[in-house]
Amino acid sequence: MSKRRIAVLGCTGSVGRQALHILGEHADRFEVVLLAAHRRADELAAAAALHPRALVCLTGATSPAALPADRRGFVGPDGLLQALDAAAPDTVLNAITGAAGLAASAWTLEHGRTLALANKESLVIAGAWLMPLAARSGARILPVDSEHCAIFQCLDGEDPGSVRKVWLTGSGGPFRTRPLATMAAVTPAEALRHPTWTMGPRITIGSATMMNKAFEVIEAHWLFALPPERIEVVLHPQSIVHSMVEFRCGSILAQCGVPDMRVPILFCLGYPERLPFGFQPFDPVRWRQLEFAPFEPERYPAVALAYQALRDGGDAGARLNAADEVATEAFLAGRIPFLSITEIAAAALAARPARPIHSLGCVLAADAEARQLAQREIAALSSRESH
Ligand code: MG
Repeated sequence: MSKRRIAVLGCTGSVGRQALHILGEHADRFEVVLLAAHRRADELAAAAALHPRALVCLTGATSPAALPADRRGFVGPDGLLQALDAAAPDTVLNAITGAAGLAASAWTLEHGRTLALANKESLVIAGAWLMPLAARSGARILPVDSEHCAIFQCLDGEDPGSVRKVWLTGSGGPFRTRPLATMAAVTPAEALRHPTWTMGPRITIGSATMMNKAFEVIEAHWLFALPPERIEVVLHPQSIVHSMVEFRCGSILAQCGVPDMRVPILFCLGYPERLPFGFQPFDPVRWRQLEFAPFEPERYPAVALAYQALRDGGDAGARLNAADEVATEAFLAGRIPFLSITEIAAAALAARPARPIHSLGCVLAADAEARQLAQREIAALSSRESH
């Protein structure tokens, strides 16, 4: 049996490192043919040392001097696409953070390869453009996002027309019970303390604002062709039920597991096989209290922005994401208060009517425009702060 050829993009991030661990455990079935990172050259070199035949790419570098000397390597965002051409992977695990992941998703779908998608932003910003690419080439998208991996498993072999509703679960992040009046004072350190999942900084802040859940609503819409009114968010603090599908016959299917990203990563890499891994055996008694609660729109105003972006269509998602990326960085840098993240994203969404997406260029233009708008808002907030 020939080995499945895997490209790991974002290999030094949280998902990328966990994926490499899984791939190492199943080295008889997988060959890592490309390792891409943004700026962490030392960590990239360490990963490459374990995969002697993998090509390497540093998307945040401009000179190949930063690359391991013993390897064919590429630099910059265009270099990543050349590296994908040269490596010819069967499966691309896209674990790049943010809008920067879009081009690699597009490459994968255009070339008819399997996209193990841990970059939900690809669908948030350009779902309307990517899904037809996948349909034309026959490429498969396997969602690594735990909620969508759950829904994918619940829907496998089902008639999409028989779905009444999808319940997207969310832990509610660290501020689920914090008094609303104190939300304005949230610090980066507090927001980075996620109660159940260990993830990178951007998605952890997105879990605190629930912008991450907003993006997941949009992601579910594109992945499963669900109209927005069939996607509902419910809080589930234990993060054991990863999502649920309610069918018109009254049956509800849920996919469960401990909150460990290696579970959906392993599912996507092995699909359609269920590969073994040394997880602790599940103990239902330990998890005997599973709670569900309605999410409070006033605590998490970001979620409504997802439904707004879906109603607006076109480039609305691209603007929402870009503003959130910039605002999240500014919050982490101590430049703006916590509540301003969602306010700035809302301002970018409301700035103008949506325009249709005809090409990657349309998406990039909307992205750049919203980044500028967000920077102006941040500068205005910072100058008010210092006066
Ligand atoms: Mg998720």
